[in-house]
Amino acid sequence: MKIICIGRNYAAHAAELGNEMQKEPVIFMKPDSAVFRQRDAFYIPDWTNDVHYELEVVIRINRLGKNIETKFASKYFQEFTVGIDFTARDIQSQLKEKGLPWEKAKGFDQSAVLGDFLLVSEYNLNNLNFQLTKNGKVVQAGNTSMMLHDIPHIIEHCSQYFTLKIGDLIFTGTPEGVGPVKSGDILEGSIEGKKVLRVKIK
Ligand code: ZN
Repeated sequence: MKIICIGRNYAAHAAELGNEMQKEPVIFMKPDSAVFRQRDAFYIPDWTNDVHYELEVVIRINRLGKNIETKFASKYFQEFTVGIDFTARDIQSQLKEKGLPWEKAKGFDQSAVLGDFLLVSEYNLNNLNFQLTKNGKVVQAGNTSMMLHDIPHIIEHCSQYFTLKIGDLIFTGTPEGVGPVKSGDILEGSIEGKKVLRVKIK
């Protein structure tokens, strides 16, 4: 199983990090060892002082596919949720400055948090509200209609390079409002008002 992540897919978030907009989706990956089970606590690694949350809509691939056209993309996933792409922002900034890959900052253990999966057929993924609270206060509120690259285009683009396999996850990018976590924080993610994710930071 692989985890494909899309970067800079919401204009306001790209702007808040001072990143240029890209014509093609920005892609990076996390290893399967990054998956976090949400009933556990998230432990801030000792090699970073600046872990950020990024709440994102996540889809789970349910069919093998390569070179998938946008018009067939919806046949390749039936379930989705929101997840947190935990990012060691201090390490990522150092790596970006040197032009090096981001894996250490993005793919570390526990960095891919998944909420409870929901059925795509029961929601409108083109116009889906999702939000993250930190200690009860809303810190991120996104809507998928604001994506620069929508889910069918993400699937088409990714599957040109990587064969999609059953169980693969795609993190579709975060809206604005990313920020740091500290020990004691509680993060909760919801989709259209339904709470699907809870993480305690240690
Ligand atoms: Zn992200």
